[in-house]
Amino acid sequence: MSRTDRLRELDRLYVWHPFTRMREWLEGEPLIIERAQGVYLVDTDGRRYIDGVSSLWVTVHGHRKRELDRAIREQLERVSHSTLLGLGNVPSIVLAERLVSLAPEGLAKVFYSDNGSTAVEIALKLAFYYWQKKGKYEKKRFLAFTGAYHGDTIGTMSVGEIDVFVGRYRPLLFPSYRAPYPYCYRCPVGKVYPDCALACLERLEAVLKRAHRRIAACIIEPVVQGAAGMIVAPQGFLEGVRRLTKRYNVLLIADEVATGFGRTGRMFACQWEDVSPDILCLAKGITGGYLPLAATISTEPIFRAHLGTKRRPDAFYHGHTYTGNPLACSVALANLEVFEKERTLEKIKPTVALFSKLLEEFKELRHVGDVRYKGLMAGIELVQNKETKKPYRVESRMGVRVCMNARGRGVIVRPLGDTIVVMPPLSIKKRELRALLSAIYESIREVTEGARG
Ligand SMILES: *Cc1c(COP(=O)(O)O)cnc(C)c1O
Repeated sequence: MSRTDRLRELDRLYVWHPFTRMREWLEGEPLIIERAQGVYLVDTDGRRYIDGVSSLWVTVHGHRKRELDRAIREQLERVSHSTLLGLGNVPSIVLAERLVSLAPEGLAKVFYSDNGSTAVEIALKLAFYYWQKKGKYEKKRFLAFTGAYHGDTIGTMSVGEIDVFVGRYRPLLFPSYRAPYPYCYRCPVGKVYPDCALACLERLEAVLKRAHRRIAACIIEPVVQGAAGMIVAPQGFLEGVRRLTKRYNVLLIADEVATGFGRTGRMFACQWEDVSPDILCLAKGITGGYLPLAATISTEPIFRAHLGTKRRPDAFYHGHTYTGNPLACSVALANLEVFEKERTLEKIKPTVALFSKLLEEFKELRHVGDVRYKGLMAGIELVQNKETKKPYRVESRMGVRVCMNARGRGVIVRPLGDTIVVMPPLSIKKRELRALLSAIYESIREVTEGARG
């Protein structure tokens, strides 16, 4: 028995994989990653694959980035963990200052945790308590969008809306208000952009008008909804959401867990429309894909609402054991230093241009209904019938089949339903990007048209 086979057997015996149909997994031949370099993942048999989804949307400057490796090693020589409950630590302080300086205006205080779900959970608690302290006791609900994904905890599932993820847990969830996200390919209000003049915003306004007294905050994935299938909102939508939430006295929570750290071509997606949210949630790319870390950044008024008075001091009663972990904060700092030193956001412009040019070619394919992209985030939606936009039957698992086919061509991608997600590290070279997209193109052709590529 080869080493790989032995590892596979142990994996099947002991490991329960997330978002995975384990029945199928147990019958399959899972790929086991052992090493990585740049945009390549290497399996236990030495085979190389392009990491086409940045190891689930986290890798930024590539794997084994020298500066990031070094930051962790140097921090190891000092201290690996020390708590933020009642103590400060050096990297968490330096990083907080950097994050505030980069974040949209008005965001002032950094609250650390260790994953995207907790970053959002914290934002919900902050927004709720803010209004309690303001005496607006009825403001205890949230307004979220159709197709939203904000994490897997009970609170974040309550604002999420992807039925396969949250449907079965509905009895555990609290109710939320819902407004349509501009999924223009299947417009929720039946119009066509740009003639629609963003009619979906009217639906949002209707909810706000009716229920703003009961709504603490509106939560949005700005510019791109990730898990819904890389839904790219048209220009002006986010700005409209900010305008309406201000008008109706509702806080705005921007969940940039997926879009943050250059993924859309700007450091934060909110910056495309000069929007400052009241609370910003960051995770995934924050450490360049190295260690779990998240940050929830709030404005000064929200912070102040949690201070209480001299006679009755208050606190924000929340904190995870690894909050502000020094190793994670130091690699996050190194991640930001590389952005600056290599001028990453400038440098990726030609890559982004090539990406969009290559993606446009997918529209020729007989079963590609829609191609959506912003920066280096893209979704390619497969449909059974292009004229009617009729989706494939769920059980035909087209997305999965295309991605498995691509694996045979040395590419790792993961679908969301029948949308193929492409989200390479920002460091991908043009040659690598061409190889990645041509493999996906051929896989779609072969699987959906039965053509040999
Ligand atoms: C991934 C994601 C989350 C959840 O982050 P985890 O680290 O997986 O808990 C929340 N919001 C958005 C927009 C995400 O993409």
